Amino acid sequence: MSKDILSAKADFPLLNKRVNDHPLVYLDNAATTQKPQVVIDALVDYYTNLNANIHRGNHSLAVQATEAYEAARRKVTAYINAEHNHEVIFTRGTTESVNLLAYTFGEKFVQPGDEIIVSQLEHHSNYVPWNLMCRRRGANFRTLPFNERGEIDLELFKSMLNEKTRLVAVNQVSNSLGTVNPVGEIIRLAHAFDVPVLVDAAQSVQHLAHDVRALDADFYVFSSHKMYGPMGIGVLYGKEKWLEALPPFMSGGEMIDIVTPEKVTFNVLPFKFEAGTPNVAEAIGLGAAIDYLGQFDPLELQKHEEDLLAYGLKLLADIPDMIIYGAPSQRSSILPFNIRGIQHYDMGVLLDTMGIAVRTGQHCTQPIMDALHVSGTVRASIALYNNRTDMDKLAYGVQRAVKMLKR
Ligand code: PMP
Repeated sequence: MSKDILSAKADFPLLNKRVNDHPLVYLDNAATTQKPQVVIDALVDYYTNLNANIHRGNHSLAVQATEAYEAARRKVTAYINAEHNHEVIFTRGTTESVNLLAYTFGEKFVQPGDEIIVSQLEHHSNYVPWNLMCRRRGANFRTLPFNERGEIDLELFKSMLNEKTRLVAVNQVSNSLGTVNPVGEIIRLAHAFDVPVLVDAAQSVQHLAHDVRALDADFYVFSSHKMYGPMGIGVLYGKEKWLEALPPFMSGGEMIDIVTPEKVTFNVLPFKFEAGTPNVAEAIGLGAAIDYLGQFDPLELQKHEEDLLAYGLKLLADIPDMIIYGAPSQRSSILPFNIRGIQHYDMGVLLDTMGIAVRTGQHCTQPIMDALHVSGTVRASIALYNNRTDMDKLAYGVQRAVKMLKR
């Protein structure tokens, strides 16, 4: 029997908090999700009972901590259906995963005149590292635009692929518009040119199917803190053949094999990419978050969030002067909006006085804001513990704020 989704809210202590004298309505989940008690307990338990540095010691605590860290890696492997544990590299998060790849892939595979394709729907962390790498390597940074619905045009993508393309970087879900990108199709088209694809799954791994082998993704990156786990830990998944071919990123302890003044050789995967002492407790916390998620039926979870999104969007759409951004055929978890004549920032501040937490501004996606010709949007974003009452309170709060601001 899978766990009832509507019971989830009780598992998250912070959701019981009052903010500005109102019960908290937390709708900033795309920025970070709250943590269930089991994740908080895993962190406390690690530091209370297990703390030791891993992989180096042979005393009991070091062995147990190493085992717990590697068990967390196995949970990630299973969660994303990777073929091998050593294809799962722990990083600090999506940003570090992309930077690792942009540096190492650029150094090994990108020459002057080569091309990288990045969608215009990307978060800065899957945009800027590629842009800077292209400058370093003298390569061409090509952006794949989106249309008025907020969708990528696959025909245009096809026309951009050529024998100079070295890599395609695209998110599965846009953090600003919620567009679900056709990454399976993008990967199929890119592979026809032998071009690898990096999927930024920061906004999808916690909401949609997360099977790297079914997708045939070459690289797949995400952050623990957006999927109910701790901050400071994330994942770079890469197919073995790619990770083997790439040089190391950071160097230091653990990532080496032989070190002499004349010669340094590297450790095997995944350790080649995990220099220094990693975030052990946080990795274990991510494992606890994966266990927590595993209690739910994934299809029920997706349906719950889809229903909630449709319900919330409908409530917002009925408010006069409402602008909802994008109209993609598939949208996940994001409600991006503005009220004509009202600054997104003012709306955010007023909603906060009612205990409603949303995000306002550019959401680290200036290219999207430029294309929409706005300085920013209000973004409500949902997680598994949200319910219809939260959406009702959001819509009511927006209407109250409009009355106050337009008075
Ligand atoms: N990509 C997407 C789509 C995101 O939404 C985010 C976080 N907002 C990131 C990348 C960056 O994630 P992090 O800050 O955890 O590295």
